[in-house]
Amino acid sequence: MAMRPGVQEAGPTFRGECRQPRICSASGLGGVHTPTVAWRPVTLYDLDRDALGTLLATEPSFRVDQLWDGLYRQGHPVAELTNLPASLRRQLVTDHPDALSEIQRSVSDGGETVKWLWTLADGAKVESVLMHYPRRTTVCVSTQAGCAMACDFCATGQAGFTRNLTSGEILEQVVRARQSAVPRRVDNIVFMGMGEPMANFDNTWAAVQRLHHDMGLSARSLTISTVGLIPGIRRMTAEDLPVNLAVSLHAADDALRDRLVPINRRYPLGELMDACAEYVEVKRRRLSFEWALIDGVNDRGEDAERLSALCGPLRAHVNLIPLNPTDGFATRGSPPQRVSAFADHLRRLGINATVRANRGTDIDAACGQLSASANGPEIRVDLGSTRPTL
Ligand code: SAH
Repeated sequence: MAMRPGVQEAGPTFRGECRQPRICSASGLGGVHTPTVAWRPVTLYDLDRDALGTLLATEPSFRVDQLWDGLYRQGHPVAELTNLPASLRRQLVTDHPDALSEIQRSVSDGGETVKWLWTLADGAKVESVLMHYPRRTTVCVSTQAGCAMACDFCATGQAGFTRNLTSGEILEQVVRARQSAVPRRVDNIVFMGMGEPMANFDNTWAAVQRLHHDMGLSARSLTISTVGLIPGIRRMTAEDLPVNLAVSLHAADDALRDRLVPINRRYPLGELMDACAEYVEVKRRRLSFEWALIDGVNDRGEDAERLSALCGPLRAHVNLIPLNPTDGFATRGSPPQRVSAFADHLRRLGINATVRANRGTDIDAACGQLSASANGPEIRVDLGSTRPTL
């Protein structure tokens, strides 16, 4: 078997600063991992089929199919792919360790919501959330460690940006959550965890393609949420897979949106709505707007009216999220009666609006609460590494 040393080329994916310099044993250089020396072991989920073929060049050719099938269709850990020889599994696990090491697992909603805090090979931390509902199971994945979009009310934005995730790191979140969900199946993937998917488009889209082509998820079960990066929306429009698009709107006039979602200053509402209209027109997919209801800020009658004027021509659906508390934002979420009044107002204006069921607020797993912090008052099951060994 031709195993390559587990080193990935430096590239845009790894340019984010590393806050945790450490000795880099995987580089073979024994060097110190600094913000400018980008490295990390290549995980199996980062490789395409050809690269797996190269990796297994000295094995019988059917091994590539077995491994690919095991990684994606079955979704088992490599150590458990018993149709591969034990020596091969051992070598794969040694040379291509998992990208995600579980450092904490938090459970709430009577076991129906599970949040993982993972640490990556370079010490960056990300979170993923698994949510079971009566008729479906959803995984919410991160696309970046941290986020550079700086929305004040979002815990991830408050913590700042660390780096982009690779497609393998994104995919592995789904694989690990899917393993934990058994016997239930994962039906939906939402790119609504930490980070801005459109700011890491290539890796996010590579993960989307793998989820669709190899893990068998339909495009309609995948949803990418964006703060409104227009170039990303345009790229999605040009791609073949008609995934769902969600736009985190939160304000329907530029003055307020400039304050709540700073990227609006670069991509103002008029241009954003044009890009959304194009997406809907080309993809024929339902567009949704996310709207975190902030007490006295964007939950007024005039906000509902402006929002409905934006939704109408696009036939957009509105997802109302009562603002979840974060340490860095003093204003509270709208109280329940204002939430329902806002929803009713929209409905009277003919807009399809739902109030999103809040999941995992007690474990900081709810929208905007992901900050990869290991502190909190919740019941936590600290499992250490739960990966099987050979
Ligand atoms: N960056 C992408 C993906 C994150 S999705 C985006 O902004 O769409 C996370 C969703 O939760 C976004 O709609 C975000 O605006 C919203 N959100 C952020 N902080 C929140 C909070 N404190 N309460 C409720 N929703 C929040």
